[in-house]
Amino acid sequence: MTTQQLLESPAYVVMSIVIWIPITVWIISMVHWAVSGEIDVLTAFLGVCTALGLGILAIVPPAPFCTPLASAAAFLTVLLYPYFRNMNEKRQLGALEVQGVEKAYEQLAFRPDNVGAKLKLAKLLWGRGLYGYAIAISEKTLRGLPENVFHEEFKMLTSWKNQFREKPTSLPCLDCGTQNDPGNLHCKRCGAPFLLYYARGAWLGPDLTKRVLNGWVAAMALIVGFPAAAMTLNRVLIIPAVIILGGAAGYFTYLAVKPSSTS
Ligand SMILES: [Zn+2]
Repeated sequence: MTTQQLLESPAYVVMSIVIWIPITVWIISMVHWAVSGEIDVLTAFLGVCTALGLGILAIVPPAPFCTPLASAAAFLTVLLYPYFRNMNEKRQLGALEVQGVEKAYEQLAFRPDNVGAKLKLAKLLWGRGLYGYAIAISEKTLRGLPENVFHEEFKMLTSWKNQFREKPTSLPCLDCGTQNDPGNLHCKRCGAPFLLYYARGAWLGPDLTKRVLNGWVAAMALIVGFPAAAMTLNRVLIIPAVIILGGAAGYFTYLAVKPSSTS
């Protein structure tokens, strides 16, 4: 079979059409993430260009192997898509909750006996599985308060106590290392809002989405860009093309593996 016959075979025609399904999903996602600020515009732009490049490569392949390669790359991307979405949702939820903790601490700095802020903090901690802390904080906060006024809150505390009977473990302060008993809002030694630091560290987690995305762009530049450039460009153009592709792949690999900044 000649190359021409191979490219006109049904399998190749189907591949070059079907590839536009994952490519469309991918482009819409890229634009959406760029608009919502989850990825920067340059990453989104290069991602869209890569997706379009994959589609064109599948339709007019410089060599027969480019069509299945481009299809595989596009479908692999779509398989990763639910993972991206899930990671992003978890992170956004975590970020919202951390904001809630920040706000509670701000209100407490303004008025240390703010019952609402303390109970809000306790609820956030309960939602994240810090049961002992949630119980200790609300117990301390509600002590001496009239039960008929804080009826709902007392009911919540009783229900929490029924669900969690273990002895809570203490958390270390990230500033000075002192172990703090549940119920404390600030470190007993240095006064740091240690639960806020804990929430920032444990609820947000590493930003894996951006890393996977950058790693993907780097891989695409190498897998698709090099063969495409090698087969379509003449000898004069190939050198700058390889330098640009190599540079882009290097840059995105760096973004994928660089140590995360701590704030
Ligand atoms: Zn401390």
